Amino acid sequence: MSDTKHTKLLIIGSGPAGYTAGIYGSRAMLDPILIQGMQPGGQLTITTEVENWPSRKEVQGPDLMVEMEEHARAAGTEIIGDHIASVDLSNRPFTAIGESGTTYTADAVIFATGAQARWLGLESEEKFKGFGVSACATCDGFFYRGQEIVVVGGGNSAVEEALFLTKFASKVTLIHRRDELRSEKILQERLFKNPKIEPLWFHEVEEILGSEDPLGVESVSVKHVKTGEITEIPCKGVFIAIGHKPSSELVVDVLETHMGGYVVTKPDSTATSIPGVFAAGDLTDYVYRQAVTSAGMGCMAALEAEKFLSENE
Ligand SMILES: Cc1cc2nc3c(=O)[nH]c(=O)nc-3n(C[C@H](O)[C@H](O)[C@H](O)COP(=O)(O)OP(=O)(O)OC[C@H]3O[C@@H](n4cnc5c(N)ncnc54)[C@H](O)[C@@H]3O)c2cc1C
Repeated sequence: MSDTKHTKLLIIGSGPAGYTAGIYGSRAMLDPILIQGMQPGGQLTITTEVENWPSRKEVQGPDLMVEMEEHARAAGTEIIGDHIASVDLSNRPFTAIGESGTTYTADAVIFATGAQARWLGLESEEKFKGFGVSACATCDGFFYRGQEIVVVGGGNSAVEEALFLTKFASKVTLIHRRDELRSEKILQERLFKNPKIEPLWFHEVEEILGSEDPLGVESVSVKHVKTGEITEIPCKGVFIAIGHKPSSELVVDVLETHMGGYVVTKPDSTATSIPGVFAAGDLTDYVYRQAVTSAGMGCMAALEAEKFLSENE
């Protein structure tokens, strides 16, 4: 027989937003249940050094997430290894069905299901993720001071990342499979004026090449999309900037979304279009996409859920 669990506050997602919501929700005596999903700890578990989490000059992403999990558990959050397959937000209590077969009912829900960077899908990209391959210039640009790097993509993110990376890199090659960018004109102007950036038109990445011991990127091999000619570009870092996809499949049909699926929240709030349903972290944030901003939104969501519950009990 399938199991049913009721909670005042259900938190879906175990990244910085989810665990922070757990800590604040527990301290507000809401006895939250947090569902971890397929990626316990979220996106930071697939990176190595994190150097911008306040109070930690350097910490491994997976270690930071284990510490956050322990903190949320110690505060009183019940943490469950399950993945939510569907939700019904039409009535309170809200319902979420786990792939384990458990039905969770809740008086308030925080969605903190994050986002995923889009990747090229190459085996070599997978191999060097965290060892030269990144999808976040703000996070990892600092590691490439004085080095040559490449950025892959042609939209706003790619141009912004390329411009940002010139603060650190000696040279940035922007690899794009067309001969024009999709980004805003003002960004393009800045890019073309920057002497450190060299666009490489009509090319796509074939393979990322590097050393085994220590694991690290040495170059990328790129193919001309028209002639098929292969060239090798030396570089120490490869930034894939072909977009992000919010993990909003559970709610895309019921909550208001924009910008390709990001959940819309009220100004200065994590409240969504359904009262009692909150959204925090990368699921709502197409601008900053950082651990610390996600944690901040997790805090806001728990405080707002507590206020909602005290006003609606
Ligand atoms: C390679 C890499 C390096 C990065 N480095 C840094 C850095 O140095 N500093 C920094 O500040 N930021 C960094 N970031 C960005 C940072 O990881 C994100 O901004 C942050 O993790 C977002 O947190 P979140 O809680 O919103 O969601 P996420 O971390 O995306 O977590 C989402 C959670 O939701 C869960 N989930 C999804 N769907 C379901 C479901 N249906 N049911 C249950 N659970 C579900 C997942 O299992 C996961 O636990 C990096 C990102 C990447 C990819």
